[in-house]
Amino acid sequence: MPFATKLKVAIIGAGPAGLGAAIELNKLEFVEWRVYEQATAIREIGAGISIQPSTWRLLEILGAAKNFHSRDIYRPIDNHAVQHRNGRTGELLSSHGQVDTPLNQLHARTLRSTLQQALLKEVNPSKISVAHRLLKVIRSPSGRLSLRFENGHTDDVDLIVGADGVRSVVRNFIFPEHKISYTGRTSYRAVVNEEDIAHLNIPDAVTFWHGPNSWLYTCGLGSGKYELTSMGREPEKDADKVSWGQDATVEQHTQHFQDFSPIVRQVAEFSKDIKQYAMFAGPKLKEITALGSVVLVGDASHPLSGAFGSGAGFALEDVYTLGQSLKWAHEKGLSVKAALNLVDRIRSPHYARLYAILDEYAATDKSIRSHDPPLSFDDAVSILIAQTWSRKGHWIYNYKIADVCKDAIEVENARLSGNALPDEVQDGNAASQFISVQESAKL
Ligand SMILES: Cc1cc2nc3c(=O)[nH]c(=O)nc-3n(C[C@H](O)[C@H](O)[C@H](O)COP(=O)(O)OP(=O)(O)OC[C@H]3O[C@@H](n4cnc5c(N)ncnc54)[C@H](O)[C@@H]3O)c2cc1C
Repeated sequence: MPFATKLKVAIIGAGPAGLGAAIELNKLEFVEWRVYEQATAIREIGAGISIQPSTWRLLEILGAAKNFHSRDIYRPIDNHAVQHRNGRTGELLSSHGQVDTPLNQLHARTLRSTLQQALLKEVNPSKISVAHRLLKVIRSPSGRLSLRFENGHTDDVDLIVGADGVRSVVRNFIFPEHKISYTGRTSYRAVVNEEDIAHLNIPDAVTFWHGPNSWLYTCGLGSGKYELTSMGREPEKDADKVSWGQDATVEQHTQHFQDFSPIVRQVAEFSKDIKQYAMFAGPKLKEITALGSVVLVGDASHPLSGAFGSGAGFALEDVYTLGQSLKWAHEKGLSVKAALNLVDRIRSPHYARLYAILDEYAATDKSIRSHDPPLSFDDAVSILIAQTWSRKGHWIYNYKIADVCKDAIEVENARLSGNALPDEVQDGNAASQFISVQESAKL
């Protein structure tokens, strides 16, 4: 579809992906957009969220970094990004520094609501329709997309941005065969008032406490709050009763760190507002766009179930790529489909790499659990940390999406002008992400 004079865009969902999309699309004068959110108000549940260096860079581009006050974020005094401890003994097994990271982009923890409010401040509220739950999308023979909402509202648009999270209705419309399922793991997230635990000897750090089958994550959040998140295996039969953020008890939370250091169990006693999250994930999508008029961003495009602790960052990378791709296609007089193809070429290989890392993690986990004779608590933890948590994936947090987009656009421009291209164009940051010329030819 060529660009309409005004490209009418519906953004479904007002999480980090949807709000980020609104900010990026608002920069494009040829786009008319509206956000539809099912909740009756824009609010976040759940405890904390990590803001990685790559996420800070995007928040700066989006203009939202300035909306964070230093009292609303937590950074440890020695600027480590994360530490890993043996959950039983408390022994510090690894600590990751951030040597080359500018101070304003150092990893930080904050309340999820703080991130949401920082993004929300940059969005025109009159363009967000709350209490609008998308039920389905109908495509007319002419290709026009018609949105049907639970409250009876309808809207016809040129482009749908599916930012509706892990259980995306938009994804179900374009890829009905894609299914998410319970991963066998359940997480509990609790917030503690910092003053309540000031007398306890908990490290001033961003800490994973590990056991062979579970972990606990403790850290400050700013705003006088402290977070405890646990993750452990729970049988499938329980998965249907828990979804996103149900109330839970201290006993449910602590079951996954019963045999951990007494310090963390003491902190857990002060937990308030404990929520339970069954982890659902789905296989990697081959493509994250379809029909030349639908694009998935954020968790809708990569149901990773919180793996890597950077999903909000990934979401912002997606929407930045979308904005850059639409701008490029519009300037070149190309179609919306051309823009979406570019989004796919930039983002799909990236997600392929993330899924490959998770496959490696799963293989390590399996080999530890099937070890004969069974490994001791301490041996299993040492192997886990050495082979998964300390090894792979740190490039993700320093990913420079702006450079990646710039490189990809240069490739496209060279191709359009008929210039010879190198066989492969290397991703600006990561070791081995390539956008191949053969792929480019799909345009
Ligand atoms: C346990 C856990 C820990 C995590 N920790 C981190 C972390 O430390 N750092 C980090 O960056 N990420 C983390 N993540 C991931 C992060 O929370 C998500 O990746 C991020 O919230 C994705 O944003 P999103 O906007 O795509 O989806 P969501 O935040 O899920 O937002 C989707 C929005 O769409 C709305 N919606 C859904 N369906 C409809 C519909 N039919 N109609 C209208 N609206 C709809 C929803 O109400 C919601 O507001 C974690 C995730 C989990 C589960």
